[in-house]
Amino acid sequence: MKHVTHWIGGKPWTGEAASRGDLYNPATGQVTGSVDFAGAAEVAAAVDAAAAALPGWRETSLTKRAGVMFAFRELIRARQGDLAALISAEHGKVRSDAAGEVARGLEVVEFACGIPHLLKGGFSENVSAGVDAYSIRQPLGVVAGITPFNFPAMVPMWMYPIAIACGNTFVLKPSEKDPSAAVLMAELLAEAGLPDGVFNVVHGGKAAVDALLAHPEVRAVSFVGSTPVARYVAEVGTVAGKRVQALGGAKNHMVVLPDADLDLAADAAVSAGFGSAGERCMAISVVVAVGATGDELVAKIAERVARLRVGPGDDESAEMGPLVTRAHRDKVASYLDAGVSDGAVLAVDGRGHPVTGGAAGGFWLGPSVLDHVTPSMSCYADEIFGPVLSVVRAGSYADALAVVSGNPYGNGTAIFTNDGGAARRFSHEVEVGMIGINVPIPVPMAFYSFGGWKASLFGDTHVHGTEGVHFYTRGKAVTSRWLDPSHGGVNLGFPVNQ
Ligand code: NAD
Repeated sequence: MKHVTHWIGGKPWTGEAASRGDLYNPATGQVTGSVDFAGAAEVAAAVDAAAAALPGWRETSLTKRAGVMFAFRELIRARQGDLAALISAEHGKVRSDAAGEVARGLEVVEFACGIPHLLKGGFSENVSAGVDAYSIRQPLGVVAGITPFNFPAMVPMWMYPIAIACGNTFVLKPSEKDPSAAVLMAELLAEAGLPDGVFNVVHGGKAAVDALLAHPEVRAVSFVGSTPVARYVAEVGTVAGKRVQALGGAKNHMVVLPDADLDLAADAAVSAGFGSAGERCMAISVVVAVGATGDELVAKIAERVARLRVGPGDDESAEMGPLVTRAHRDKVASYLDAGVSDGAVLAVDGRGHPVTGGAAGGFWLGPSVLDHVTPSMSCYADEIFGPVLSVVRAGSYADALAVVSGNPYGNGTAIFTNDGGAARRFSHEVEVGMIGINVPIPVPMAFYSFGGWKASLFGDTHVHGTEGVHFYTRGKAVTSRWLDPSHGGVNLGFPVNQ
């Protein structure tokens, strides 16, 4: 049985936890260990360690801070397989997918290596006679990250590499369902030369989150998770005077126009709908089939779904693993019956899908397709977050656009077409933050910023890219004049540049 504990001040916490959570192997349903849960005292210890490390770290030169990120990059590359194995064992996703999430997180580390360039300010000479003006960006202080179960390495890596490179110190509260990746990343940061206390990890659930939101020393909070908790974190954090970016849930649509290559579209819908068992915030959960494409597209999707290999994450031939918990598996499965009773057609029932090499107690649910779904059904309205692909039939492009833009979420969407004009019009008109054109999961690269619209993001700054740098710093504008005898004399008027 493994035991996962907090990482505070550059080392594992040695106290006795008042409460703990169980860790599971989702492929067997067995308990594999426990994780200590933090209360206000453990959170305060982590924030104190971060606050103590702040003066030294924020004064550390840009090149030294970048140097730590370069060393960390090499360590992550060397340990990518170990991180993937840890993720797969607690989350359930197949190892190749877990390695992929580490690779996407690594891109943000690489972006953060460029921090000396990213923090360059502006300089204007002679804004008035003999007067210069310049702008600089400075770190906020102690900042916190609160992250979901579905990307236990990548989502924290959207946050802390940039926050730390900017000169902040960090407290991460990862998901209590798969906390081990965060601890390994803390160990690797220490090995890379990061001073003690600059990066800390506290585990737990709501009590730990509330303690971070209430702590006056925490200046900013980055949150990624479900919409109700994102809204809560944004509201409580903002009232407490913190800067907050809170990314929420999603319902991502893939619009297929009649001129699209239907084989390409079916491949994309299946890859994006069932990768990581649909537990991705950018997973396609709704295909909107426009015009007469519906029947043929559903047939092509069903054919591909039948061939998917479902099995344990550590089986190299498996393409899709189990769901993260039994409760989540049962909730996802309940939408199949709910959809049918609301009038949808269960084109593929994943409950009968073969599981290769999976233990009977695992949290298995094969891939399912619900056809003829309409926006009033619960299987459409709710974020299912599992291997259930809904197909909505739309009469025209305008009807499809109305469905996508009418959805309360606005994380990602994609359009499949060979008509450049239609694609351009869609990307211009649709009310969603991240758009794919013949790309089903349009996750922006690290040097762009990631974030949705509407109920998918509270706060107005997206994560990573230049918006991430902006979020973790505050601006200062300096106006300077060095002694010049021609500017002598008292003048009570407001300065006017003539
Ligand atoms: P979650 O909201 O249950 O948990 C997220 C974090 O909040 C965890 O650290 C958890 O411990 C904490 N938490 C849970 N309940 C809380 C409460 N009542 N009060 C305070 N903190 C609480 O989300 P999850 O199930 O771990 O992750 C899946 C969700 O995350 C999905 O909705 C998915 O769409 C979303 N997600 C969004 C993005 C994005 O970029 N928008 C990315 C990944 C995941």
